[in-house]
Amino acid sequence: FNVPTPTNEPVLNYGPRSVERAALTAALQEGRAKQTDIPMYIGSEQVRTGKTLEIRPPHDHKHILATYHEGDAEHVHAAIKAALDAKEAWENMPWEDRAAIFLKAADLLAGSYRAKINAATMLGQSKNAYQAEIDAACEFIDFLRFNAHYMTEIYAQQPTSGKGIWNRVEFRPLEGFIFAITPFNFTAIAGNLCASAAMMGNVVVWKPAPTQIYAANVIMEVFIEAGLPAGVINLIYTDGPVAGDIIFSHPDFAGLHFTGSTGVFQNLWKTIGTNIDKYKTYPRIVGETGGKDFVLAHPSANVDVLNVALLRGAFEYQGQKCSAASRAYIPKSLWPALKEKLQAEMATFKVGPVEDFENFINAVIDERSFDKLAKYIDAAVVDPSVEVVAGGTYDKSQGWFINPTVLKVEDPHYVTMCDELFGPVLTLFVYEDAEFSNVMDIIDTTSKYALTGSIISQDRYAIAEATYRLRNAAGNFYVNDKPTGAVVGQQPFGGARGSGTNDKAGSMQNLLRWVSPRTIKETF
Ligand code: NAD
Repeated sequence: FNVPTPTNEPVLNYGPRSVERAALTAALQEGRAKQTDIPMYIGSEQVRTGKTLEIRPPHDHKHILATYHEGDAEHVHAAIKAALDAKEAWENMPWEDRAAIFLKAADLLAGSYRAKINAATMLGQSKNAYQAEIDAACEFIDFLRFNAHYMTEIYAQQPTSGKGIWNRVEFRPLEGFIFAITPFNFTAIAGNLCASAAMMGNVVVWKPAPTQIYAANVIMEVFIEAGLPAGVINLIYTDGPVAGDIIFSHPDFAGLHFTGSTGVFQNLWKTIGTNIDKYKTYPRIVGETGGKDFVLAHPSANVDVLNVALLRGAFEYQGQKCSAASRAYIPKSLWPALKEKLQAEMATFKVGPVEDFENFINAVIDERSFDKLAKYIDAAVVDPSVEVVAGGTYDKSQGWFINPTVLKVEDPHYVTMCDELFGPVLTLFVYEDAEFSNVMDIIDTTSKYALTGSIISQDRYAIAEATYRLRNAAGNFYVNDKPTGAVVGQQPFGGARGSGTNDKAGSMQNLLRWVSPRTIKETF
């Protein structure tokens, strides 16, 4: 069992006169000029229903970027049928050929499709060039290459045999089809939720977030060009609850691969539970959900390291990462120096559309998110117990722009210390230095989510204590670093509590959820 040894795809830098900047700029211009008409992909058909909806860049909501064709119940049924029709041939295809398709997809993303997928992610999801590059190019490529490698490690796991006996394990795909429901915020996640299940021999019905359909279309183009047979992944744009009603009551529903918010996932799980006696097999339920990720600073922390961890952790991609630093606990002795550095650095942040490569902060995803964030900010600005350290303003005239905001609160249970806001708002609680131990209790007891967290400290006892005391408060824990930016193959990613089933995206553990092993004993 061998595939090319995976290594992480290098991040290109898009400097002002670089070849990659020129290619990306051309792809952005082409994307804006083209007004793509996006079909659903069901079996071998590109389906255009005529019921079109518009896609607009979040940073330029007056511009129509593309249209897509909305599906209804009929298309959900058609997608399930196409998946089940494709199943036998796909699961009997030798694993090398399945791997080759996804390895070729990785090469296409690394080469001829790199600019196109990055431009689609920039325009459709308002990510700047660097954020698009580390997501739609590098992370997606890494998922495909590393998963092909993990697949071979799974197949190689075989039991021992005795004299006259040959034991073996066959890692069968699940009996039925997988439903992939994907979020808006990472192109790589959307691609991986489909590809990881498909790589293990499963067939998939895929429903992306409406705000990510523009990039989803490019993902599908890449899979098709890489040789993915028709019907293995079927991409539909039917409203979530309509699709869910049909899929979750279908006897061949065999698994849910979900990334999105906690409330949605919990409701889907309840629906699956209610329908459990309808299925041929217990469905696998894998969900990566919300986060309220923390940075804990110890009095020994290096203030520059802390400042960078907070700014990058909280504000890259406008805080719309499940792992974003959204609450921080700062010792009183460090606060004056940190405040000065935070404010000085934030004064240099450029906010605006993605087409200007100088802009660090772009728009939040849509009006709903903008309104939600504006409401939290408005309440904080008039609250006498809250100090607005930076930002606190927004502007929706051109796009859904929320200025990066830092709030300092007196109550560690203040609403923005507990709710997932999913935007560029960081809330700080400043504690008495002697209270470090109690602050860890507060973090743990307020962590209804448990995705990521960081300790910033130069004191090894403090690091050891926090690593132990906060062991259940984060599935990915960072020492002297921001809590974002997990790299496939290096930091398997996922959280527990309200943050998901912790099946670690981009790992062998995740792929094992998409197989149902059969043990065969043969006696000679
Ligand atoms: P969301 O929950 O609004 O939507 C996720 C997906 O669920 C979308 O495709 C949406 O259309 C679909 N959906 C919504 N209601 C549905 C229903 N009733 N039936 C079927 N499908 C339905 O999430 P989002 O705004 O796209 O993404 C942001 C959320 O995702 C945040 O909570 C974030 O923390 C989380 N997230 C988690 C991880 C992780 O690894 N833990 C990674 C990325 C994002």
